[in-house]
Amino acid sequence: MTTQAVTTTAGTLYVVATPIGNRGDISPRALQTLRAVDAICCEDTRHSRPLLAEHGIERPLLALHDHNEDAIAARMVERLLAGDNLALISDAGTPLVSDPGFRLVRAARAAGVRVSPLPGACAAIAALSVAGLPSDRFVFEGFLPAKSAARRARLAELASEPRTLVFYESSHRIAEMLDDARAAFGDARPAALARELTKLFETILDGNLASLHARVVADADQRKGEFVVMVAGVGDDADAKLREGRRLYAKLCQYLPPSQAAKLAAEISGAPRKGLYGSED
Ligand code: SAM
Repeated sequence: MTTQAVTTTAGTLYVVATPIGNRGDISPRALQTLRAVDAICCEDTRHSRPLLAEHGIERPLLALHDHNEDAIAARMVERLLAGDNLALISDAGTPLVSDPGFRLVRAARAAGVRVSPLPGACAAIAALSVAGLPSDRFVFEGFLPAKSAARRARLAELASEPRTLVFYESSHRIAEMLDDARAAFGDARPAALARELTKLFETILDGNLASLHARVVADADQRKGEFVVMVAGVGDDADAKLREGRRLYAKLCQYLPPSQAAKLAAEISGAPRKGLYGSED
């Protein structure tokens, strides 16, 4: 671990959360900071300008996105070292959470510049707070790969994860993603879907992966907007372990002799080996 040496003359980079829907979800301190900085880095100036204008904020805007982040970061660090105070915002929610900013923050910290958060909305945390799924420990997976084979492979890697899984998903892939999740985790895995949080059509659905997939397929309205998908981790109970062990055993039997497949499936899932034999049929 390194200790950040902060020079007294350098400015501060403020990382500021903005709303994920409801325009009221921005803190007074965030607005005060945005009003006071020398410039604001944002993803898309056309997107951020109306929000800032709404609050009478007229600071210079600089576009920072995945394609120019290294170059902009170097320029911003020079300005910070020269004493400017800067803010970083994204189109919605908390910067760096499935949004640009990581390279700027890393460069600023490496240069010894103070980086300070102005916390606020984040779709993953908002969704988790209302899902009714275990939330003491969770894994944020962000967006899954867009291509089906890669998405399935990623989900398969997560099938034995005991913590609640949190994904971001777009409207055009939500049905496919839930279908792939059913295949990877089983129909019965408890799950929740948070759609359009803090907006007019906010909907939080819960159930299991099969029921959520069926709901989304049956109702086109449930495929509109922005989504957070949450899937409970593999349960601690013997039944869940056995289900997971059997699922793994059936897969592994395609590549290994049954005894080895059972040994491996039992080791990964925690299910008793004798409960797995014959379950591939
Ligand atoms: N930085 C943002 C945050 O703090 O949540 C996330 C930005 S990411 C590019 C956008 C994704 O976040 C969307 O595709 C959706 O999965 C999720 N998201 C953003 N706003 C949402 C909302 N109001 N309701 C549900 N999901 C939302």
